[in-house]
Amino acid sequence: MVLKVPFLADSQLESAATELLRKYAKWKGSPPRPPIPVDDLVEGLLELSLSIGELRARLGKNDVLGATWLDEGHIMIDSSLEGSEGRFSFTLAHETGHWVLHRPIIEMEKVTVPLFALEPNAKATPAIICRDGQRDSAEIQADRFAAYLLMPATDVRAAAKAINGEPLAIERLEARRKAGELVTELKSLAAEIIERGSFTNVSNQAMQIRLIALKLVTDASHPQQSLL
Ligand SMILES: [Zn+2]
Repeated sequence: MVLKVPFLADSQLESAATELLRKYAKWKGSPPRPPIPVDDLVEGLLELSLSIGELRARLGKNDVLGATWLDEGHIMIDSSLEGSEGRFSFTLAHETGHWVLHRPIIEMEKVTVPLFALEPNAKATPAIICRDGQRDSAEIQADRFAAYLLMPATDVRAAAKAINGEPLAIERLEARRKAGELVTELKSLAAEIIERGSFTNVSNQAMQIRLIALKLVTDASHPQQSLL
């Protein structure tokens, strides 16, 4: 399913995530620090219900990650992600992104979404179903929102500064990533930052992408060139 949504700049997506963290801080009485408690944010602040279910089996598709039911205010994460803290939290943050960014558009009936029953035998109601590898703009927006929510720039920068002081220049970073090579220097830095910054609900892969976006790693071969 492809949701047709208006363009949102990265700065708007980051503002939306920062605003949600600010509301959470107000509700909770103190600002959230990593690991960002996305489940409490969903259930406590947004008052959505959350469950783990057999989405893949029910949809007959083995790449379903999560789904959000708009009328019920319910998020379901596929049971295959249980025990994989990074992927579970990222998917939950991604679904939160749909709720924050896209539900208002859908409610204004500018976008239609498919119907899917929350429980087997229940009435089918509007739901956003998310599958691995979907790259349409709504999915990309929700992914970026998730990264901003779980890895706030100030927290990532603080952890990086405590380790390196300045951005890490990696030889042929861009070429190696394009070739699908494992960039061990980047992987090690991501692991260090996860540990130092307590980003325990973030995968190494997600942190690698965030470090590049924040320019905390640079390509030593092309120091001026943007990697994104
Ligand atoms: Zn999605």
